[in-house]
Amino acid sequence: MKNNKYGKLYVVATPIGNLEDITLRAIETLKSVDLIAAEDTRHTLGLLNHFNISKPLISYHRHNEEIRSDLLIEKLKNGETIALVSDAGTPGICDPGEEIIRKSINENIEIIPIPGACAMINSLICSGLDTKEFVFLGFLPLNKKLRKIKLDEIRNANKTTIIYEAPHKLKNTLEDLKDILKKRKIIIAREITKIHEEFIRGTVLEILEKVDQIRGEIVIIIEKNQNQENINIWNTKTLEEHYEFYLKQGLDKKEIIKNIAKDRNVNKNEIYQYFLKK
Ligand code: SAM
Repeated sequence: MKNNKYGKLYVVATPIGNLEDITLRAIETLKSVDLIAAEDTRHTLGLLNHFNISKPLISYHRHNEEIRSDLLIEKLKNGETIALVSDAGTPGICDPGEEIIRKSINENIEIIPIPGACAMINSLICSGLDTKEFVFLGFLPLNKKLRKIKLDEIRNANKTTIIYEAPHKLKNTLEDLKDILKKRKIIIAREITKIHEEFIRGTVLEILEKVDQIRGEIVIIIEKNQNQENINIWNTKTLEEHYEFYLKQGLDKKEIIKNIAKDRNVNKNEIYQYFLKK
């Protein structure tokens, strides 16, 4: 039950490039709240100045999320309304947000989404791939073993798969994808909503040929594996789904990790490491 004496937390999406993508509700919300919690206050100040909004800002980023969320919760409990924004797009999607949202739920503070831009969704809808079901994996891990687990998920995925990548890591990631995807289609959605917006389509090999000319922010959308014969069905599930499967059967963490490792034919320490970071 939400507590009506408390303030509200608005989770506000902001543009991912083109400032005209801000919504009327986002502007109204940013104007009306007591405080804006921003991933990078200087960056958000630019956005606020553009729309003639003057509001106190407080930083809320990956490195202070834990402690800053406690302070923000206190403010919310004192009746203040707060808007949470990230540098671009939807907070919580590969951006800070989860911590304060979890704590707000625990404290019965009302949370209101203000929808808007998200790079993942806008690249998917123009990809030409199956949009009925899809998997979003965020950024691939850099740790070799964890990365291999995620690459195996992509290899076997029976759903369109979306990943984020930094431009300077694109070549390396395509090299990793080359052998596992073979002729499957991929789309590089680049600079969405910006002047150089482009959708580059082809196989990994075809895209690797022009990778040095691909600049700016990118999303990779990957065609599902159409050939579902001879694949390990567990690898079509995310590790979280796999975990949930055994959790529902009443197994404890240790047993779950052992089973996951066995099902996927990987070392159980790798699985343990993965969930340790969660
Ligand atoms: N919260 C954001 C969202 O809603 O999409 C994502 C933030 S994440 C830190 C940044 C990544 O999103 C970039 O590395 C890129 O993969 C993707 N991205 C953000 N803006 C983009 C754009 N305009 N075009 C293509 N990809 C973009």
